Amino acid sequence: MRIMMFGTREDELNAANEWAARNDIEVVFDKGPLTMDNADVLKDFDGVTTSQTAPFDDAIYERLRELGIKQVAQRSAGFDMFNLDKATENGLIISNVPSYSPNAIAEYAVMAAMNIIRNTKMIQNKLKQHDFTWNKAIISKEMRSMTVAIIGTGRIGTITGRILHGFGAKVIGYDLYPNEEAKTFLTYTETLEEAIAQADLISIHMPLTKENHHMFNAELFAKMKKGVFIVNTARGGIVDTKALIDALNSGQVTAVALDTYENEATYFPKDFSDKKVEDEMLLHLIDREDVFISQHIAFYTETAVMNLVEGGLDSVKQVIEMGTCDNRVN
Ligand code: NAD
Repeated sequence: MRIMMFGTREDELNAANEWAARNDIEVVFDKGPLTMDNADVLKDFDGVTTSQTAPFDDAIYERLRELGIKQVAQRSAGFDMFNLDKATENGLIISNVPSYSPNAIAEYAVMAAMNIIRNTKMIQNKLKQHDFTWNKAIISKEMRSMTVAIIGTGRIGTITGRILHGFGAKVIGYDLYPNEEAKTFLTYTETLEEAIAQADLISIHMPLTKENHHMFNAELFAKMKKGVFIVNTARGGIVDTKALIDALNSGQVTAVALDTYENEATYFPKDFSDKKVEDEMLLHLIDREDVFISQHIAFYTETAVMNLVEGGLDSVKQVIEMGTCDNRVN
């Protein structure tokens, strides 16, 4: 069996090589993403795993079928880069790695929340100016005095809520499908509006779907408590970024932490240090003191990377050997 591993980063090599040795399967690495230009290489392979961030060209699915490929195993939880209907039409099994370390993202969300609550960006900027004063602009709230709304109480949301509950926050939650574990420390609201209206801090942990694209828009921001803090480690497309900037400008939102950004595909995770970033909105977010932004890095821990590599390769092997896999999403 030969597996092509697209989008391979250096930090994935150890786990991939160990998996290959353990399973006695050849894994070939390619640093780049799977595209229409390089898909033909797959004629010599049995299976493929990707670590895609941008949407695939719709033509890829037919091409993969023609090449005899039966599956694509994405090494992430999100699978919004796939057109699942087109994949299914072409007999392709798409899989993700649904749970590789929810703690990694949850811990990052908490860290990001603490950063915006404690004004760390502002404090660091003052420090760089050698302004060592304390003043009202940088006085902080304490988590224990806040009501936190977790929107999407799945694996990551539940852990985030539990950690913040440990800080002493009052935790409430909204989910289409409430879960029993979360009920042990949070109170569910019936609607999203009820949750966001009570919250001092809102942390978003739901997947991006057709239904919730730009769900966090001007209308929703207006229904929040004035001065709310927002953390989005889920998907950029859930938030209307332009409306968010307006809400920050008006003071409706005090500060925001974004590990995901709706137009991130061109930039995250690429090196633009010697290239021009054309996206004015991204540049603006990076510059703002009330925005703590990062390059979709919340998942990035040693444990998570190992679990992602093994999860992706396991799915390839399962499909080839059994015709399906545990983590099939279509
Ligand atoms: P999960 O499937 O365990 O939980 C998602 C929860 O959201 C579910 O309980 C679901 O019922 C709920 N939900 C779905 N649509 C909803 C809606 N419209 N309103 C309210 N609730 C809704 O997923 P998870 O493992 O907790 O991951 C959550 C998201 O985090 C992923 O979908 C992904 O987008 C994001 N993520 C980000 C990173 C990162 O590095 N920043 C890494 C992994 C995952």
